[in-house]
Amino acid sequence: QSTLSSASKNAYPDWKGGDPVPYAALCATFSKIEMTTKRLEILALCAAFYRQVLRLTPEDLLPTVLLTKGKLAADYVGIELGIGESLIMKAIGESTGRSLKIIKEDQQKIGDLGLVAAKSRQNQPTMFKPKALSVRGVHEGLMKIATVEGQGAQGRKVDGIKKLLSSADVGLAKGQSVDITKDKGGPSESKFIIRALEGKMRLGLADKSLQVAVSHAMVAYEVSKDGKKMPSEADLKKGEEIFKAVYNELPAYEVIIPALLKGGIWNLRDACKLQAGVPLKPMLAKPTKSISEVLDRFEGKDFTCEYKYDGERAQIHFVAHDAGEEYAATVAPKEGKSDRGMSNIFSRNSEDLSKKYPDILAKLPTWVKEGTKSFVLDCETVAWDVEKKHVLPFQQLMTRKRKDVKAEDVKVKVCVFAFDLLYLNGEAVVNKPFRERRDLLYGTFEPVEGEFAFAQYGNTREIEEIQTLLEDSIKASCEGLMVKMLDGVESHYEPSRRSQNWLKVKKDYLAGAGDSLDLVVLGAYYGKGKRTSVYGAFHLACFNSDTETYETVCNIGTGFSEALLSELHETLSPLVIERPKPFYDHSSGKNDQPDVWFEPKFVWEVKTADLTLSPRYRAASSEFGGDGSHKGVSLRFPRFIRVRDDKKAEDATSSKQVAEMYRRQSEQGKEKKTGVDDE
Ligand code: ATP
Repeated sequence: QSTLSSASKNAYPDWKGGDPVPYAALCATFSKIEMTTKRLEILALCAAFYRQVLRLTPEDLLPTVLLTKGKLAADYVGIELGIGESLIMKAIGESTGRSLKIIKEDQQKIGDLGLVAAKSRQNQPTMFKPKALSVRGVHEGLMKIATVEGQGAQGRKVDGIKKLLSSADVGLAKGQSVDITKDKGGPSESKFIIRALEGKMRLGLADKSLQVAVSHAMVAYEVSKDGKKMPSEADLKKGEEIFKAVYNELPAYEVIIPALLKGGIWNLRDACKLQAGVPLKPMLAKPTKSISEVLDRFEGKDFTCEYKYDGERAQIHFVAHDAGEEYAATVAPKEGKSDRGMSNIFSRNSEDLSKKYPDILAKLPTWVKEGTKSFVLDCETVAWDVEKKHVLPFQQLMTRKRKDVKAEDVKVKVCVFAFDLLYLNGEAVVNKPFRERRDLLYGTFEPVEGEFAFAQYGNTREIEEIQTLLEDSIKASCEGLMVKMLDGVESHYEPSRRSQNWLKVKKDYLAGAGDSLDLVVLGAYYGKGKRTSVYGAFHLACFNSDTETYETVCNIGTGFSEALLSELHETLSPLVIERPKPFYDHSSGKNDQPDVWFEPKFVWEVKTADLTLSPRYRAASSEFGGDGSHKGVSLRFPRFIRVRDDKKAEDATSSKQVAEMYRRQSEQGKEKKTGVDDE
């Protein structure tokens, strides 16, 4: 309550009821947000602004929330910003009449393209005042930029950026002098437009906090209709829980916000439910270092050990034509229709994979039992050796084309291994115990050899039997086991969570090799000797989703063949940027600068001997370097394993996971020293 009221004096005088929300008002809120690091304050500022939007221009709440998130649409829609630096610089130059050379020099000095744009426009004489930008106008403009395709697309993107920039206010009132070379503060519209184009708002507002802000605003708005000034803490908490539960099942503001505006927050749970066509964020597992740790964790509870297949996570959505209203209401992309209905395959980060797996979509209807109207299936697609009838390594799957695959041209066959059912015949089943979900899964599908199978499992608590299952899984070309709770609330499907109720046991962990990490390539060093024409080593980082920064974690030069190095040189060279992005958290040490920096794009799987603290790296430094040592976690003897095409930069191993790994390792070390052995 206090947080909402303290931020309620957020009014923007020029904005009247029914007017489109002025973009300047949103930017003013962004500036205030970025000036504080206090989570509650950030939440309050954001909620107070949304409340005002609800009062004055509710139809703009959706673009307002999306622009705060730095996204134009839900992930599954596949519309992405993240425009490269060179295009943005070109647009800044052309829209301000400054040469590219000068823009580049500024970028070298300032480092934040948003500020470069603001600075370029500050000194530009304006003949007339451009029409003020609105939130919906900026959203539309960005949408056009993100979606132009075909011939001349680059040029049209630059035109779109120029158009937005030329109407953008640099955020300086008459006579006001603000040091725009400072990263934070100043309600500059150009600065935030550039950040949106780069795909990183850096407001310190995590996705979960954004959900809370929207729910608080909505609760405050609703109670004010009842004549109350401020909602109670209990009202806010209740609203928050409803919103989070809905968002977990349906992570799409495009669907939730219209429902919110129509029926209010208290009815949202009934109005908005998991739908076939809108992918959920998948449930993930925690690593364990031994079978005995699994037994400790699940003590006294029934659990199941499934093979952990080594392929690509897939969420398959299906609605039959004759599903009536449900079919009519399906909001899924139009890809992948068969004569039996709508079907789609989504990746672990909600990307539409339907164009990659037309063979699966074509066969899907033959695996489903008669009378099934709709379902959402959680599964792993695995490369399959048709002749020898067994699973092939992950690398084989990666050789499949990602787009425009024709079912008849597919060379690497895949088998779908299903392990969970999240929705069936119009109803979410995520809140049923896993034992029941598994029964439903078996009751809905019919295995077909080499095409569709259920994940192999054993229900046992005997350590020897688990050991045997683990060994058998490895013999069957799997990575190890996934151990899952079977009954009660703990066995419910927890979308988007890395949960204690799913544990992964990989053979590597038992051998003491630890989990691998998935890291983003931020920079590179030129090779020496034979390797001078390619990059010989790379600078890698994990992702801190709270601060939206990439935190450096190691240099790596091991595990690459000569052929791979030249391939990597080719794919990485177009991503070279003038200097590290302002959202790269890296050491400023003179000897720690790579020869080139890249746009954050590629994710690599990396193994390490162990983790250590070092002042040269920044991973999880907010946790370990707070004592003034500025130390972050770093990897010792990292080795390249493979490119993870299925992960985007933001899906990389998080700083929190790195911190957890480091802590687990230290605990293990202590146990060894004190002679405690839990094996
Ligand atoms: P990893 O590198 O281990 O796949 P990850 O971050 O992609 O890491 P994890 O939570 O660590 O995901 O491991 C779970 C992944 O294992 C799932 O995303 C899925 O792709 C895969 N998997 C294979 N078999 C199963 C199974 N039986 N149950 C659940 N997930 C499975």
